[in-house]
Amino acid sequence: MMQIFVPLNFLGFVYREMKGSMANIEAMFALLRQKATITDLENAPDLKLSEGRIELENVSFHYQSERPILSNINFKVGANQKIAIVGSSGAGKSTLLKLLFRFYDTSKGRILIDGQDIKTVNQSSLRRALGIVPQDTVLFNQSILENIRYGRIDASDEDVLDAIRMAHLEEFIARLPKGVDTLVGERGLKLSGGEKQRVAIARALLKQSPIMIFDEATSSLDSASERLILEAIRDIAREHTMLVIAHRLSTVVDADHILVLDQGEIVEQGTHIELLEQGGQYAHLWSLQQRERALSATS
Ligand code: ADP
Ligand code: MG
Repeated sequence: MMQIFVPLNFLGFVYREMKGSMANIEAMFALLRQKATITDLENAPDLKLSEGRIELENVSFHYQSERPILSNINFKVGANQKIAIVGSSGAGKSTLLKLLFRFYDTSKGRILIDGQDIKTVNQSSLRRALGIVPQDTVLFNQSILENIRYGRIDASDEDVLDAIRMAHLEEFIARLPKGVDTLVGERGLKLSGGEKQRVAIARALLKQSPIMIFDEATSSLDSASERLILEAIRDIAREHTMLVIAHRLSTVVDADHILVLDQGEIVEQGTHIELLEQGGQYAHLWSLQQRERALSATS
């Protein structure tokens, strides 16, 4: 039996990376196996999580040596802080997350979690320790309950119900014919993008990690879904360190610190208000999104 917590929590993430070229399960597992070529040091200890601090120190990365993807990235996410990363497609946001999960090693610099260089701890403890809500959530032809329990296979029903509450899925589930036992997937219920994302939030919460990472979905959500997700994120942010890759800036407004990534470099940073005052890329993106909102509200 494979170590189910490693691939399943990352399937959506990996899957999305390769969807364009070869979207089939075989290829997906081949990719997951390939990632295992990053090796642990002998007798590498488990990552010991305490407060959930993340630090990137002068991190640079390239997939192929002639093409830098991330250049000299520095930032810290303190315990219980919420840091957001925004930037256009291809800026390097997903790559940054792949480094954090150590699917690749940095070319330069280091990544520390609670003071431990992630290269020095074993990979399964690292991946087990980070809650991630991927861009695309993979659901299986099983019940809602089982789909959520993938977050931590041995979680008690009570823990699952807590996660459901935190992810604002309660009302949705209450309306289903068989509640949490309703089947989802091809042979069962179809979930909307927002509902899937909340299943992913519940899954990630089950890991009971102090660190939650969101790779926000790009597809637009209806406003009711968006509101539920924003509420869930706000509740979670009170008790977790959060790193949010954001496409909709509404998720970012209340972040402690926002980093704007462009072609692998941090080109602007600050709070929402500070970035608006700077009048740069972020301010531009914000006014674009405000205009889109105004248009969709009137149509
Ligand atoms: P974002 O998530 O911000 O859209 P990515 O981190 O996915 O950006 O990609 C950053 C750059 O790295 C892009 O130019 C992309 O083409 C390239 N890239 C991503 N994955 C790979 C890979 N496995 N091999 C080579 N280049 C890659
Ligand atoms: Mg991406």
